[in-house]
Amino acid sequence: MNEQVLVLNRNYQPVNVTNVRRAFTMLYMDLAKALDGDFRVFDFGEWARLEPGKDAIKSVSRAFRAPRVILLQNYDRMPIGQVRFSRTNVFARDNYTCQYCQRQPRTSDLNLDHVLPRSRGGATTWENVVCSCVPCNLKKGRRTPDEAGMKLLRHPARPRWSALVRHPLGTARHSDWQPYLGILEQAQPHNSD
Ligand SMILES: [Zn+2]
Repeated sequence: MNEQVLVLNRNYQPVNVTNVRRAFTMLYMDLAKALDGDFRVFDFGEWARLEPGKDAIKSVSRAFRAPRVILLQNYDRMPIGQVRFSRTNVFARDNYTCQYCQRQPRTSDLNLDHVLPRSRGGATTWENVVCSCVPCNLKKGRRTPDEAGMKLLRHPARPRWSALVRHPLGTARHSDWQPYLGILEQAQPHNSD
């Protein structure tokens, strides 16, 4: 149920990545339709009639096919490139990598670090928050990286879309996503890493 699902707005532009559970709920509530690998659009009733397949969603009485891509029905307020600021999205932008020591601990051992500490007026923004492991976070304390003698892996910035869908938990990138991401990748050359 933690498999990822690509969320498209009504213009077929990627706006988010969610998990199967949430995607399925949106499908059930008719907030979204599901897309199959052949670009066919299904509402819940139609989707429920498909063969469940190997990674099915199981309810008490039956199994459903897990969607890979969903299409939002009434939701287009988030334009492309405007990735929502959230803990998960900061982790994804930073590849679940501590931006100080470059380790990739378990997600539960990752923290958000304010580069300029909050206690000194640092904002909670894409430009001032990075993914940090707990030890580095503690070591840095209420200091700037310079003061702590720590070096940032890279300067934090608002991510482009591609950063979110390339993160390394990446069982993630289903081939069904490709048609929708391809356009973006071409339009927005991404950093090599
Ligand atoms: Zn670290």
